[in-house]
Amino acid sequence: MIAAALVFLILASYAGILFTIQRRTAHDWACPKCHRTAHLERLSRPEWMKKLAGFLPLKYIRCRFCQQTFFLPLTVKNPLSNTPSEEEILD
Ligand SMILES: [Zn+2]
Repeated sequence: MIAAALVFLILASYAGILFTIQRRTAHDWACPKCHRTAHLERLSRPEWMKKLAGFLPLKYIRCRFCQQTFFLPLTVKNPLSNTPSEEEILD
């Protein structure tokens, strides 16, 4: 019984983590807080994210203007950058 409760607790926390990531994922190249596009920089993902949800195809972005951090799908490209994206390098 205690084991079942523990398993449920772990699954519920993991679902919570995935939900948090999903809630912090934007879908365009713009800061969700201040809506600027010119101040975004890509950072390496936080350690907890690498360990718990490293399989998700997300990049971690910080807005240098308002310090907001959020996630973006790898398919969303920086429209201001001339460097090729990961997918283009892999091809
Ligand atoms: Zn911002």
